Amino acid sequence: LERQVQHHEKLATVGKIAAGVAHEIRNPLTSIKGFLQMMRHELERNGMGKEHSYTTVMLSEIERINGLVGELLLLSKPRELKMEALEMEELITVIAPLISSESILHNIEFALDLQPVPAVYADREMLKQVLWNLVKNAIEAMAETDGGKLKIESSYQEREGLVRVDIRDTGPGIPHYMLDRIFDTFFTTKETGTGLGLPICQRLVNDLGGKIQVTSKGFGTTVSVLLPGLVERNQP
Ligand code: ADP
Ligand code: MG
Repeated sequence: LERQVQHHEKLATVGKIAAGVAHEIRNPLTSIKGFLQMMRHELERNGMGKEHSYTTVMLSEIERINGLVGELLLLSKPRELKMEALEMEELITVIAPLISSESILHNIEFALDLQPVPAVYADREMLKQVLWNLVKNAIEAMAETDGGKLKIESSYQEREGLVRVDIRDTGPGIPHYMLDRIFDTFFTTKETGTGLGLPICQRLVNDLGGKIQVTSKGFGTTVSVLLPGLVERNQP
């Protein structure tokens, strides 16, 4: 099961990032192509045959990149998201055995402190992926220090209407100067890290109208996921 979850997570992550990268390539490529076609007309009008022939090669190379990007987009087409009201407690309880077994492997004491909170509106697999990514970072941080304590807490910030999940670890912490950079795409301090976990989690949570906060002061790290809670009066 663990393997399967990890494999699934990897595929979903690769798919999403591939789609993002593909779009980022395609947009500037379209503008390069447009300006190149204009240049091509100018070169033709001014009788610059040699330069004109270069643009033929350039345009066909652009088409090649376009084709590759199109393929990447097709391959990475994200599955349909199914948005629904989700109970945080239930969701965390479902992934808890996975967290437990991973914790035991790394000499980590794992504890839950779940307060009753309103439901949140999200895609189940997506939210599981976000929590699992953050937990994995905590476990990886403590694996470095040969163990520690991992605690997941849920609470409700009534004033802001936010459901809060804190993932606390007693790992080495994150140096102050690095806090600004950990959400950057491809930023990693791990030998085999991808640097995609946090930026993807942040993106997904932002899309749900929430945010991720990280606090680390010399020792240990707390990563908090904040999502709008579904309360009666907001429901149709
Ligand atoms: P990756 O896990 O592949 O390195 P992430 O985007 O998930 O990529 O994390 C980026 C970086 O943030 C990590 O390499 C690590 O330096 C830092 N980081 C994230 N979570 C923690 C944590 N709980 N404790 C210490 N460092 C962390
Ligand atoms: Mg990570």
